[in-house]
Amino acid sequence: MTENVKQLTLLSDFKTESPRPLWEQANSLEELTEIITACRRCRLRDGCHQVVCGEGNPKADIMLVGEGPGKAEDEAGRPFVGAAGRLLDNILKAVDLSRSEVFIGNVVKCRPPGNRLPLPDEVKACEPYLRAQLRIIKPKIVICLGALAGKTLVDPSLRVTRDRGQWVDKDGFLIMPTFHPAALLRDPRKKRPVWEDFQSVIKRYDQLKA
Ligand code: SF4
Repeated sequence: MTENVKQLTLLSDFKTESPRPLWEQANSLEELTEIITACRRCRLRDGCHQVVCGEGNPKADIMLVGEGPGKAEDEAGRPFVGAAGRLLDNILKAVDLSRSEVFIGNVVKCRPPGNRLPLPDEVKACEPYLRAQLRIIKPKIVICLGALAGKTLVDPSLRVTRDRGQWVDKDGFLIMPTFHPAALLRDPRKKRPVWEDFQSVIKRYDQLKA
């Protein structure tokens, strides 16, 4: 644990002097990652091998948010490294983006057992970390991969089949909901809409850079 995080931990013991939670006090992705790695705020930590905080450019203009780590991610400690991750790599490559250029994370940082969807209380416990990552990285564009990310960052009533492909300007971010790569593996007909969504992202990204 770094000195900064140790100090934050000590400060958090004096709740009247420092009521803000640790993750809101973190000033860098490294500090935040240490805090998340030590987390036991929900039951998911008991059933996973390691916490998968996310990876990529700490100053990325584009951040991709999935649901949670699967078996391969839990073993590797990295996001999107299984079959869905390889497909995501291909999608990124097709639009001339690399993993090192973007930041890739998830709504929950610990693997739900049997790859089930995270439960509402688990999402609630972990969401502040995602918000803290967004605060520190400050991406211009956020791509929500799948319904859970869209429901968490856009609106609980979001339906990815209905709302994908439509930009949402919220909380200072341009958000693009689209299908999760795992959905494309199950149903290849979703590849075209995802391709169109990523084309829209690149177009907007180029406009922002210009
Ligand atoms: S899923 Fe999130 S809230 Fe739950 S233990 Fe892991 S890091 Fe903490």
